[in-house]
Amino acid sequence: MSARTGRHFLQIPGPTNLPDRILRAIDQPTIDHRGPDFAALAKSVIAGAKRLFRTKGALAVFPSSGTGAWEAALTNTLSPGDTVLAFETGQFAALWRVMAARLGLQVELVATDWRHPVEAAEVEARLAADKAHAIKAVMVVHNETSTGVASDVAAIRRAIDRARHPALYLVDAISSLGAMELRHDDWGIDVTIAGAQKGLMLPPGLGFNAISDKALAASRTARLPRAYWDWQPMIAAAETGFFPFTPATNLLFGLKEAVAMLEEEGLDNVAARHDRLAEATRRAVAAWGLEPLCAVAKAHSSALTAVLLPAGHDADAFRRVVLERFDMSLGAGLGKVAGKVFRIGHLGWFNELMLMATLAGVEMGLAAAGVPHRKGGVGAAMDYLAGNAGAVQAQAAAG
Ligand SMILES: *Cc1c(COP(=O)(O)O)cnc(C)c1O
Repeated sequence: MSARTGRHFLQIPGPTNLPDRILRAIDQPTIDHRGPDFAALAKSVIAGAKRLFRTKGALAVFPSSGTGAWEAALTNTLSPGDTVLAFETGQFAALWRVMAARLGLQVELVATDWRHPVEAAEVEARLAADKAHAIKAVMVVHNETSTGVASDVAAIRRAIDRARHPALYLVDAISSLGAMELRHDDWGIDVTIAGAQKGLMLPPGLGFNAISDKALAASRTARLPRAYWDWQPMIAAAETGFFPFTPATNLLFGLKEAVAMLEEEGLDNVAARHDRLAEATRRAVAAWGLEPLCAVAKAHSSALTAVLLPAGHDADAFRRVVLERFDMSLGAGLGKVAGKVFRIGHLGWFNELMLMATLAGVEMGLAAAGVPHRKGGVGAAMDYLAGNAGAVQAQAAAG
């Protein structure tokens, strides 16, 4: 590897770029997690994190990756042999339903072509047909990070209500929290699952479950085996500002800073920033004559864009060229779209000029790798962002 100058561009959709403020917040001596300073920190961090989920309910924070938080959501609410309704919108949804099956749940699976979101009408039809209420939970990935397709979480809640079905609503918001609008309480989510290393701008290592009262009640009778992931000791300890085992103390220092940063910007402004950068990215993709994997205009993710390469061109070979020539990491295609798509992460600690550099790296990489495309993607994105400047100022003034 030759010597590099300047910053590496980490434009994968998680882990995302670490803000200097968060690096500094984490760079402290670890404190006694049973001491008084820790209790004060934990109470304020948990309260702040709840505001990001927009919940007043319980929040469990595990030292784990997002996958652990998936397992916590399932094992705390369900019993062996229970049926869950799952939608394979992409690789993460696929991994989650495989986990559900491994844990001994019956998975009623709705397949998609990985280019479409979960359809609320499909949810309603499946639940309405389940007269015996065999389905105990509906599992939805809000922002499918492998495809760049987002599902309408609020519309799915309304569909569950129209079907008058008591199933719990479990939502993977691992790559949407901190990037796209998410409202745990207002949207009637029973468990919102999140992780540290995407929109929250932290290093990997925290897994979250925001928990509704209904999910908490279900956990009292749920019989799937759980030990490490058990909510009850976590929630009991949280009252006092402590954890039942050693927490990821320094990541909690970072989380406190992340909450401060997101709240200084304002959660609505954070979502609007991601929307704007995503739209600029799509304009670049269109100008290149390439196609996003997401086939539904209203389902485009604001956190990342997955781009199809023309048939016969290997997306991983293209990504290698971009990494070697320009020191930028782009996201790989996962699962059944491996080698067919690359993903541009545009979430987290990210701004317009970082996006322009990212898109320039992609456009130069397309040329260097010999991928057929038209020039002008970077220009199209610039035109959009520059044209939008007035709107951005108005928004800032409105605060
Ligand atoms: C990243 C991601 C996961 C997996 O999280 P890990 O931290 O890698 O375990 C699950 N679901 C979605 C939507 C993700 O983006």
